[in-house]
Amino acid sequence: MKRKILVTGGAGFIGSNLVRRLVNDGHDVVVLDSLLRGNKLSPDLQSRIQLVQGDVRDYAVVREAMEGCNMLFHFAAVLGVDVVAQSPVVTMEVEVQGLKNAVDAARDVGMERIVYASTSGVYGHGKIEDGITENVPVAPDTSYAVAKRYNEIYLQSLYQETGFQSISIRFFNIYGANQDNRMVIPRFIEMALAGQDITVFGDGSQTRDFTYVDDAVEASVQLMDKVKGCEIFNIAKEDEIPIRQLAETILKVTGSKSQIKYMEPPIARIDYEVGRRFGSSEKLERFTGYQPGTDLETGIRQIYEQLVVKK
Ligand code: NAD
Repeated sequence: MKRKILVTGGAGFIGSNLVRRLVNDGHDVVVLDSLLRGNKLSPDLQSRIQLVQGDVRDYAVVREAMEGCNMLFHFAAVLGVDVVAQSPVVTMEVEVQGLKNAVDAARDVGMERIVYASTSGVYGHGKIEDGITENVPVAPDTSYAVAKRYNEIYLQSLYQETGFQSISIRFFNIYGANQDNRMVIPRFIEMALAGQDITVFGDGSQTRDFTYVDDAVEASVQLMDKVKGCEIFNIAKEDEIPIRQLAETILKVTGSKSQIKYMEPPIARIDYEVGRRFGSSEKLERFTGYQPGTDLETGIRQIYEQLVVKK
């Protein structure tokens, strides 16, 4: 079914990849983005969509962009550990006011359902014995994660009171081409290609679950098509990767002679340092039949090849 879809944050990393997919699927797409992080939409893609530069905290702007739309991916956010640590208030306001505006405008145009980008950060420093499922107790403890969790509960409450439907997605460390160096993988690749030391905070035994952006986009589109009601889903590759192994994989793929150096994390990052985090996508698979499939080395190789081809 052809839709008119609003993507807030659509000029960002995941958003721009999602927009390409939605356009290729034949949908009409409107992007609302403040361009705070620049514009990751290629000129060709931009010519095939409507781009509105504006702030999700401004209701009038959101309402105007929503006109005629029958689906919303609300992906606009302030993120990146260093950025959030420097501006926690703006981070929370963009989350909370942004989602409220998005929901109010969506209901005003008669939309039934939205997709919201939450985060695996809501699991915080909770205890992990196995891949985290959506029903383990959450423990958000940063401005970013608390605001995301507030929004999940806001959407659940709204469904309870009004029947307005939503899907909240807890993304686990998404990576891929065009990501900027606020995030660990592009930062390490940049260091490797420049022949600089790769700096790892702590001893490198802390783990994350790296999910390739094409898989995240595929999962998001499948959720939009297949899920009704109000649900929360993890999108995770289900591989627990120590950061030391991530750095080694990047050195292997790039052929770099850089050294891996371990150092204490800066004070501002301490709250964000989590020992283990990896997710279960079992619920995603149960509802959609889809599982993220790209392994870390393949994903990093794809980024590297695109960087080398671009040069
Ligand atoms: P990104 O920073 O590349 O994209 C976010 C976009 O939102 C940017 O283009 C930015 O300009 C825009 N934006 C910021 N403030 C805005 C405002 N006030 N009004 C309008 N636009 C604004 O980040 P991303 O990696 O593409 O993340 C997309 C979504 O997924 C976010 O909601 C993020 O919290 C969530 N998420 C991402 C990851 C990840 O690993 N990348 C993990 C968990 C959750």
